[in-house]
This record gives sequence, structure tokens and C-alpha cells, in this order.
Amino acid sequence: MKSTGTMAERRKTRQIMVGNVPVGGGAPITVQSMTTTKTADVDGTLAQIYALASSGADIVRCTCNEPEAAEGLARIVPRSPVPIVADIHFHYERALEALEAGVACLRLNPGNLRKPEEIRLVASEAKDRGVPIRIGVNAGSLHPDLYKKYGGATPEALVESAQMELAYFEEVGFEDVKISVKASNVPLMIESYRQLSEVTDHPLHLGVTEAGPPPAGLIKGTAGIGTLLAEGIGDTIRYSLTADPVEEARAGRQLLEAMGLRERKGLDLIACPSCGRAEIDVIGLAAEAQVALEARNIPLQVAVMGCVVNGPGEAREADIGIGGGRQKGHLFIKGKIVRVVPEDQMVQALVDEAEKLVAEGIEARLAAADAGAAREAAADRAALLDVQGSDANHSGERVEGIRRRLGVGETPPTVVSGGADDGTPRSG
Ligand code: SF4
Repeated sequence: MKSTGTMAERRKTRQIMVGNVPVGGGAPITVQSMTTTKTADVDGTLAQIYALASSGADIVRCTCNEPEAAEGLARIVPRSPVPIVADIHFHYERALEALEAGVACLRLNPGNLRKPEEIRLVASEAKDRGVPIRIGVNAGSLHPDLYKKYGGATPEALVESAQMELAYFEEVGFEDVKISVKASNVPLMIESYRQLSEVTDHPLHLGVTEAGPPPAGLIKGTAGIGTLLAEGIGDTIRYSLTADPVEEARAGRQLLEAMGLRERKGLDLIACPSCGRAEIDVIGLAAEAQVALEARNIPLQVAVMGCVVNGPGEAREADIGIGGGRQKGHLFIKGKIVRVVPEDQMVQALVDEAEKLVAEGIEARLAAADAGAAREAAADRAALLDVQGSDANHSGERVEGIRRRLGVGETPPTVVSGGADDGTPRSG
């Protein structure tokens, strides 16, 4: 596996178009989510689709479980800001109706829609209309024959299910396909996709199904999807959370941005975990800053750090940040102090400067730094070091205590733990 940095090179897949959104073939990895409204409720469903789109979803799936849902789709599709996928479970007629409604893609579950003649009919109709299909295999609804053959939902069984469906499609010359082999068990999901990626070049839709409510659901989704993406596997992703689907869209977008697979569109707030050196309530301040910055949709990496001693150095890669101490806040851009503000104005100063940074750029804002800010900050830092010493967490004392218990002799000089007071980046 060829690697670029810590990420494997993306596996080459063929490209399909879901409406106007390319999937696979080197296209940006897309985020999907699914509505939870009744699809027949056109206005309610559209409101959710808009919320999902503005939270990062590139493609949205709606269930098509009854004729009224198909009629709803006919009204939703032309007004949707993103392509709509119709989810078909048991009735091939719903697939045909969804195609008639103008959807951009179908999702078929091979475990639920089993009659070959019906599968071929849907594929043939999709082919005539130029609409792609996702083969959505699910470990929980695997075809009973495969369950029996493999003694359970194994990776091999999931992959074979996808290949069987693909074979039906190929009989009618239909290849406009993406595939998923989801499971709620993360190791099973990972191995299934790994095996699938070895046997097909169709684009892959990644997901850990029925992951549950956050935070456990987020962790499971991230473990499965993130692992595969780091291996270069996956073209489109969906978190399946028991939560407002907006959380799914946000998580998908954030994961891709965090892995450097999509350009940052929104805020990336980083904050130190706090330690004995902190002179401010880092958790409260970070929450306040997050609300204010998200409300303004600031597309920057912003750091909130608990102290002025190590904060600016530790967060020097952030676009902008603030460290608190001695009733003051040190505002910094790329680690360089640009202003020193009273503690109660820290969030406002951070937001104001972030907006200017977006509008004017880094060089201009560094040039506009307050004269004397760096000097004042250095004096504050030195004064704090005087008060707190170089070992704000008293770790040295603790090490000595441990050594005394162990009967070890004199403690040699140790590296302090309160942070990288020597300027070395440290992160807890
Ligand atoms: S030393 Fe690091 S972790 Fe501790 S308060 Fe300062 S910035 Fe936060």
C-alpha cells in the first residue's frame, strides 16, 4: 500500500454521478445523511434536507416505503439543494416509482429485495434513466442463504451478497453502481470493506450501521470510517447515529476535514486540556468561543489555551488563538502575539480578530499587530513563571515522592510536566 504521509494513497475507483455530485474516480469524498421525517411530509422533509445540506451533507437519502413517499419524492426532488437517494427495502415497485419521481440514485438492500427478475427490472429501468444504484448490503439483513452458507454475517458473506447483486445488474448491462457492506460491529465492517475493495473498482459508500447515540455512535462510526479512509478505501461516507441527522452530516464533514480529505468549510476549534498552569476556565471559554465563532461560520482553526506561558507556543499551528492568564488574554496569530486584552473581553477580541483575519488574511493582520503587545506578553509570561515556577503541576514533587516510596536515592533533575516551558510544543 503506497502511502502519502500517514494516509494511504486513495484506491482508484470508477466514477459515478449522483445527480450533479461525482462519487469515486478521485472526486472529493462526499458526506451523506438520511432524513427521519415521513417522506410524504414534503415540507417537513425539505426543511430537514436543507438543514442537512447546510451542515455538510452533499447527498441526502429519503425512505421510499410507500406510494405516498414516492409522490412526496416527486415534489421534493426539484426543490432539494442536494441530490436525493431513495431507500428501497422490500418492494421493487417503490424503486420504479422513485425513478419516476426523478431521484438521483436508488439504494437497494439485496437482503430484502431478493427476486432476480425484480432486481433486473429495477436495474434495467435505472439504466434507461441514467440513474445509479447503491447496493446496500447490511450484516443485519443478509440474505438467509448466505447466512447459512457462511454460518453468520462474515466479511465473505457480505462481499458475496454485493457480488451476487452486481451479477444481476450486469445481466442487463447496468454498471452504474456504488456499494456498501455495513455492519454495526466495527471490526466486521472494516474487514468487509477491505475485502470488497480487493474485488471491485466500484465506488464504496462507507458506514457503521446502527452505531447508536453519540458519543458511542460517533466513536464507532469514526473508528470504522476513519480506519478505512486512512487506508485509502472509501468514496462517500455516512454516520448512522441515533440522533438528529444534522449530527451525522456534521460528523461526516468534520471527519473528512480532520483527515485533510476535504477543505475546511467551518470552524475547527482546538483547546488545551487544561492543567495546573491554567488561570482561566478553559472548558467554559472554549464553549463560549465555539458558539460565537460557529454563529459567524468562521472557517479557521482557532485555539483556546489555558495559559499564556505555553498556550501560544503549543498552538502555533492554529490560525488564531487566545491564551489566558493574570486577568489578561494574549491573542495570537500563528503563534505570534498581536494583542493583549482584559480577561473579560477575550472571546469578543478573539471573534473580532477572527473575522478580520478571514477578510484581510494573515500577513495583513500580523502587520496590524499592536505595538508593544509582544513585549507586554513576554513580561506577563515571565511574571507567571516567577509565581508558578517551572513545574506548575508539581510533578517533580510527585516523582520524588514515588522514588522515596521505592527507596530510590536522590532524584536527578527531571523534565517539568506543566508544559513545554522551554518552548517545546507539548500537548496533553
Ligand atoms: S500548559 Fe498547556 S495544557 Fe496547561 S494550561 Fe497552559 S496551554 Fe493549557
